[in-house]
Amino acid sequence: MNKPALLAGLRRVVGEDFVRTDEDSLAHFGRDTCDLFEPAPSAVVFPDSTQQVRDLVLLANDQALALVPSGGRTGLSGGATATRGEIVVSMERMNAVIGSNPGDRTIECQAGVITAQVHAQAESMGLFYPVDFAASGSSHIGGNVATNAGGVRVIRYGMTRNWVAGLQVVTGAGEILELGKGLVKDNTGYDLRHLMTGSEGTLGIITGATMRLASAPGDAAVMVLGAEQMELLLPVLERFGSAVTVNAFEFFSEQALQQVIEKHRLQRPFETPAPVYALIEFEQANDGDVDAAMNAFEQCVADSLLVDGVISQSSSQAHALWRLREDISATLAHRQPYKNDLSVRVSAVPQFLAGVEAFIEQNYSGFEVLCYGHIGDGNVHLNILRPHGMGLEAFKKTCASISEGLFEMVQRFGGSVSAEHGVGLLKKDSLHYSRSAHELELMRSIKRAFDPAGVLNPGKIFD
Ligand SMILES: Cc1cc2nc3c(=O)[nH]c(=O)nc-3n(C[C@H](O)[C@H](O)[C@H](O)COP(=O)(O)OP(=O)(O)OC[C@H]3O[C@@H](n4cnc5c(N)ncnc54)[C@H](O)[C@@H]3O)c2cc1C
Repeated sequence: MNKPALLAGLRRVVGEDFVRTDEDSLAHFGRDTCDLFEPAPSAVVFPDSTQQVRDLVLLANDQALALVPSGGRTGLSGGATATRGEIVVSMERMNAVIGSNPGDRTIECQAGVITAQVHAQAESMGLFYPVDFAASGSSHIGGNVATNAGGVRVIRYGMTRNWVAGLQVVTGAGEILELGKGLVKDNTGYDLRHLMTGSEGTLGIITGATMRLASAPGDAAVMVLGAEQMELLLPVLERFGSAVTVNAFEFFSEQALQQVIEKHRLQRPFETPAPVYALIEFEQANDGDVDAAMNAFEQCVADSLLVDGVISQSSSQAHALWRLREDISATLAHRQPYKNDLSVRVSAVPQFLAGVEAFIEQNYSGFEVLCYGHIGDGNVHLNILRPHGMGLEAFKKTCASISEGLFEMVQRFGGSVSAEHGVGLLKKDSLHYSRSAHELELMRSIKRAFDPAGVLNPGKIFD
């Protein structure tokens, strides 16, 4: 199909004003937050209904077009990046909260609803949507489902998958599926809702989602704790876990802390610098919870697990402490870090982290490597910063070879090369470290069943 005919076809589906081909739009909507790949889409379209999404998919099948579903573009793996002349399908006009159902404790949304809006809507119902992370002011609920987003409260509430009660999806063949239908119980065969969750736009375009809500937790208190070594943080979590209900248990290195403090001119959490810090958020359900947490802290100091710590005295202090962790990713963005998002079983974390530390010392000298993440659920974000003066291609090549060593270690530990950021373009060559050849072949068969002509996000997850 020649370009004018292609554009005419797209305009017939979404309307004259909702097809963009100007340079700024192609650059802006052509990529997500991973800036290691150059965007090169042919056009960006903005459907406003499931029917329009279906017509786009049918057109793509008819004319052998490739579509890249696009949410809030906060993804970190290039999953929403169009590098090969694809059509970007932005869901940002499908942004209505369709309804809330307090009896079922659910919210029904179009896919383009921003995650923070789901938080606000849940709060207005006296309930709580627990999936939260630093990008939830921009990410879409559809993107969260497509990536099975995790975030900072996984340790207590699990990942997005746990909260998906129903999905409306247009498959790669152009069929509209209603999955889950908001039912709590439905054992009528394979649960396609779970297959769609985490499929990164390769099996279907999610047009609507019914999300389950939790009871609103009590007020939270936040502590930042300093330790000499990463592997000491797991025994710390065990002590606190026995004393209070832990909502979040995050960690960051002194180098990561320094970047945030310098950029935003923030106060250090306490005077004594420590190589690593844990941020713990716990629920203050009872009067005794703060005392129980303080007792756990004192025991940890007495047993040399911690060197110092601070506890929030107000919600604004809690917010200020959270910034030390949540602002890390955005603070590093201008350095174009090469991100590794690794996980192992929680019980294996101390041994794994000791291995990572030794590996970094041996192989990363000359590179700045910053560690932070969701240590309470076994998830470590390892960011390699591009040295000043090193070209992007040379940097990517070096990082890829360094990553191989890391991934071999992940494989030995039976871990994952992408804990929560998905595969996209960034991790597809490394998938074999976490998935067997047989699993990969089954995944390809599933792709063919949902998207026989390969029109949805081709080249993502695998080729
Ligand atoms: C500062 C920062 C912090 C972050 N922290 C976390 C974190 O703690 N935990 C975490 O899990 N992630 C985190 N992320 C990554 C990212 O925010 C999540 O992956 C998020 O779920 C992506 O949602 P999105 O709407 O931006 O999707 P996009 O980036 O637009 O797309 C992501 C993938 O989903 C597909 N997709 C998007 N919408 C749809 C749809 N409607 N139907 C089908 N496929 C679709 C895209 O094709 C792509 O493959 C962070 C990102 C940033 C920038």
